Amino acid sequence: MRNPLITIILCLGLLPTNAQTHSHAGAQPLTYPNIAGYVTLKTDLHQHSVFSDGHVWPTIRVQEALRENLDAISLTEHLEYQPHKEDIPHPDRNRAYHLAVEEAVEHDLLIVPGSEITRSAPIGHSNAVFITDANELVHEDAKDAFATAKKQGAFVFWNHPAWFEQSPSGNPILSDFQQQLIKSGQMQGIEVINSVDYAEESLALALANNLTIMGTSDIHGLIDWDYTEKGNHRPITLVFAKEKSLPSLKEALFAGRTVAVYNDLLVGKAEFLKPLLQASIHVLKASYLPNTQVLQIELKNSTSSDLMFENAMDYTFYDISPVFVIPAGESKIVHIKTLEILGSFDLKLKALGAYTEPKVHPIIEWNVKIDRP
Ligand code: ZN
Repeated sequence: MRNPLITIILCLGLLPTNAQTHSHAGAQPLTYPNIAGYVTLKTDLHQHSVFSDGHVWPTIRVQEALRENLDAISLTEHLEYQPHKEDIPHPDRNRAYHLAVEEAVEHDLLIVPGSEITRSAPIGHSNAVFITDANELVHEDAKDAFATAKKQGAFVFWNHPAWFEQSPSGNPILSDFQQQLIKSGQMQGIEVINSVDYAEESLALALANNLTIMGTSDIHGLIDWDYTEKGNHRPITLVFAKEKSLPSLKEALFAGRTVAVYNDLLVGKAEFLKPLLQASIHVLKASYLPNTQVLQIELKNSTSSDLMFENAMDYTFYDISPVFVIPAGESKIVHIKTLEILGSFDLKLKALGAYTEPKVHPIIEWNVKIDRP
């Protein structure tokens, strides 16, 4: 066995400067680029603590978010399901939020006040975030809870629509109740990714009803145990906001400027997902191999997601598969047969891990200037 001290010294020497590594030993900071006109906020707006059916104190949620470099979180405790209430009595339903705010005060992490309105199907579970007082949302009749959320100016989204405990087919069923919520402006978003589940049918519902596309961890235990240790990142919603602030985050959610991300899966409306992917890949180098018309380009993936692409050009590749992956934070060399010497060209790749509609992958374009031989 190698001397552990020597191992540490060797490892330090090899650490990449941007802290992107492929070891999944612990939480890693998540990175996604800004897009034109907006800052990209990394958010997880569906989480639980011991103030409903979660297993940790709210401060742990803040520390987990800081370890992963998130910009905003919400503790959305079930209003109607409080299994620890006898051990932890809390007449004030805003308590988890206040503890998180206190913990985050020295940090650049936004804490969004939220609650989960919890009923059996056909009403289902929904998160109301940007509420002003969770206590007022406790109602016998679900209709009153949603009406109060609306009165408080909340952004409301439908949680895990495809959850088989509420829909045994594993497909979302949009109920009359929910249709009424959407029609009356009391529900504006939908989770297409909840914990490890992605439902294309939920994406179809989002697009058909102009709902904001959300991805959340719905964490009850520890992020490290449930996600990181298994080689996964927690699902998040990237929100394209005018600036990093609570009012801007709220405005962007109502405007539907989001992409849901889980590992190498990215789901969003084309107008946001395409510029995100465009900004995620940098062309580091482009030049011809000596005495050939074979172009060599180096592509760098600046995100925390492994990105899979397929060649979408008429030009073919020289020595790699038309389908290839650029691992998170890494770069890849691609050889393209352009048949003549070009000064520039449009690189076109289909993003196979990304969906703008069920079964539809966006094609992303980069104009590439080629170095003179
Ligand atoms: Zn929940």
